[in-house]
Amino acid sequence: MSAEIIDGKEFAAGLRARVAAHVARLKADHGITPGLAVVLVGEDPASQVYVRSKGKMTVEAGMKSAEHRLSPETSQEDLLNLINELNADPTIHGILVQLPLPAHLDEDLVINAIDPAKDVDGFHILNVGLLGTGQKSMVPCTPLGCLMLLRERLGSLAGLDAVVIGRSNIVGKPMAQLLLGDSCTVTICHSKTKDLPQVVGRADIVVAAVGRPQMVTGDWIKPGATVIDVGINRIDDNGKSRLVGDVDFASAAEVAGAITPVPGGVGPMTIACLLANTLTACTRANNLPEPDNLTP
Ligand code: NDP
Repeated sequence: MSAEIIDGKEFAAGLRARVAAHVARLKADHGITPGLAVVLVGEDPASQVYVRSKGKMTVEAGMKSAEHRLSPETSQEDLLNLINELNADPTIHGILVQLPLPAHLDEDLVINAIDPAKDVDGFHILNVGLLGTGQKSMVPCTPLGCLMLLRERLGSLAGLDAVVIGRSNIVGKPMAQLLLGDSCTVTICHSKTKDLPQVVGRADIVVAAVGRPQMVTGDWIKPGATVIDVGINRIDDNGKSRLVGDVDFASAAEVAGAITPVPGGVGPMTIACLLANTLTACTRANNLPEPDNLTP
């Protein structure tokens, strides 16, 4: 193995510590405690784990955590009423609705009902537009975490060829916008892309957000490239369940210059960036200077 391992777990711990230090200063100097509300509809086991972990880390950072667990049968009207209450609550600075929602609820309608200033997931159409036009916005947590890891590893990204595999609204598209904002030459790939290995082979930066276990193999990667693996896939490995990314770590690490592992790469950055976004939302809501050492 030749690649340097990009330790997202360690970077995320540092980011959470910086957030906690800012929160402590906000409390001491201004008597303000940032508050994050997480709304979970239904009993999806993976979503329950994520929500628990978000709540725990929010409290560890010194923030207020409000969890709203609603039954799977919750009506659209009841959910929108709760969001309106949270929009109006001055102790809540960030609102996150855990996705996916049960099929009878309209995700776009729900997300766009969140006050854009409290939209710490960055999925509101206004924030999507602000990001796309290079204006100050709330940036989706997972791509933001990827960008931080890339800047940490590479410094300036200007002029580098970046390939993003995946075009979801949550990861692929905002990731491409962020890389474009950092002056990369960006190619976005998807399930209809022709000769994906050849396209990936040109890239200095590869971000894989596909949802297909170990799809990107070492022979696709340009020697020395930086590989960011967003995928989280559970596979059966000789009767044992284990998490793998969208990149075949063993073969890619032979060729890449640096690579994120799964677990311990992008995953921990997502929650750390959620806390950073909540703190940013709180400072903006109170017309205070934004912390300058959190987000890139
Ligand atoms: P989506 O399913 O929404 O999007 C997957 C994308 O991959 C689509 O654009 C799809 O193309 C593309 N794709 C699928 N198959 C292929 C293929 N064979 N070749 C090229 N492209 C393909 O997934 P998400 O973006 O939500 O998530 C992607 C992965 O990231 C998942 O493993 C998810 O678990 C993980 N994830 C991890 C997070 C973290 O915190 N680390 C956070 C969020 C997601 P098309 O549009 O044409 O269908």
